[in-house]
Amino acid sequence: MDLSFGPRYEDFRSEVRQFIQEHGSKSPQAGNSGSKKAMAWQTLLIENGYAARTIPKDYGGYGGSPDIIESRIIAEEFSKKQISTGLGGQGISMLVPVLLEMGSEAQKKQFVGPTIRGEMLWCQGYSEPGAGSDLASLSTKAVIDGDDWVINGQKIWTSTAHLADWIFCLVRTEPTKPKHQGISFLLFKMNTPGIEIRPLVDMTGDANFNEVFFTDVRVPKDQIVGERGQGWMVANAILGHERGSLAPPDAAQSRLNGVIKLMEEKNFAGEKVIDNPVFRDRLMKIQGRILAMKCNDLRLLSAKINKNQDTQLASMIVKLQGTELRHELESLAIDVMGELGLAYGDNPYIKGGGSWQYQYMYYLGLIIGGGTSQIQKNIISERGLGMPREPKIERKD
Ligand SMILES: Cc1cc2nc3c(=O)[nH]c(=O)nc-3n(C[C@H](O)[C@H](O)[C@H](O)COP(=O)(O)OP(=O)(O)OC[C@H]3O[C@@H](n4cnc5c(N)ncnc54)[C@H](O)[C@@H]3O)c2cc1C
Repeated sequence: MDLSFGPRYEDFRSEVRQFIQEHGSKSPQAGNSGSKKAMAWQTLLIENGYAARTIPKDYGGYGGSPDIIESRIIAEEFSKKQISTGLGGQGISMLVPVLLEMGSEAQKKQFVGPTIRGEMLWCQGYSEPGAGSDLASLSTKAVIDGDDWVINGQKIWTSTAHLADWIFCLVRTEPTKPKHQGISFLLFKMNTPGIEIRPLVDMTGDANFNEVFFTDVRVPKDQIVGERGQGWMVANAILGHERGSLAPPDAAQSRLNGVIKLMEEKNFAGEKVIDNPVFRDRLMKIQGRILAMKCNDLRLLSAKINKNQDTQLASMIVKLQGTELRHELESLAIDVMGELGLAYGDNPYIKGGGSWQYQYMYYLGLIIGGGTSQIQKNIISERGLGMPREPKIERKD
């Protein structure tokens, strides 16, 4: 079976390879997202259409037409050489697509360009102590006072709030309406008076997320996306982008290549780990699942081009399968390393800078973040497979 994309696309592939050959050495290491090198790389990628490819030039993008096969080829070639595909984060992967779809012209002009260039960092203020899986129960409130919204309440698990310049935040603005209809979606600066950020240390040992407290925080009235009370719709559009971006299959393929290399280097019971049937079995199961993820990714890309197709459920499959798959993949690498797999932090014998151990813990977090696996399964089974809704149990507060 010939799975190549045909001569026109193979020419495009050569162009991408040529770019990587000429400029690949300028790519930053993974996790170097705030550095000057990463920002310069992002600018180069945008100029050449390898990042922000379909974002209009007026908003700072490359202005290309959508072409799923070209996007696929770029992702494949960059991943093969382990070259960075540019900056990510909640602003670029979640907020920008939604602003392009639902933001006002002024918001697109103000926010899209600086965000895709990495000059404006964002955090996502959704979860609260009493509203996680049941997000629509959120109680942080905003009331109009003169030309401003005045916000009071608390968010939790807010990733990168300590680094962010701005927040996109869900607040309750119509307390008397049914819970899904009383929410609005606001944008505001993280240095606005009345915001307090307290770090939360996760199991990796880093403070990647935070509690964020709002006391009489004043936000200009027009910093709302969509209409007042329609924030739930905006929030859900964002969650679709978040779920699709949390565990892309090309990144999994790139990590898998690393595991195969480790298995070829390491010995177990007198043979190379790669030749051990138990380890091979685990490897092949993961390999098969990555292939399935790639097919789902192609399906998602083509559904995005044919805009009449709903991609919400396919994005949930990426989130559900992708995060669990990455967790298992990193776990395989740790087992391949034997007792060294347990090393962490500044242990002098640590392999690969400890990235396998770090990612193992990080992906356990992502199985929860952006909606837990149980919630994804509930929605896929109810909306995708038409299974009966689970009974709603009244909360007793
Ligand atoms: C690494 C990480 C980063 C995060 N970053 C952000 C961020 O930047 N911004 C933000 O707003 N939030 C963020 N979150 C929060 C995340 O969205 C929530 O943790 C998640 O939605 C779950 O909510 P919860 O923690 O309140 O758990 P709960 O909703 O209390 O759930 C507890 C357990 O009960 C299960 N459960 C709940 N309801 C059901 C049900 N109906 N059926 C079956 N099982 C159910 C859940 O699956 C889970 O296992 C992050 C979380 C993590 C782990």
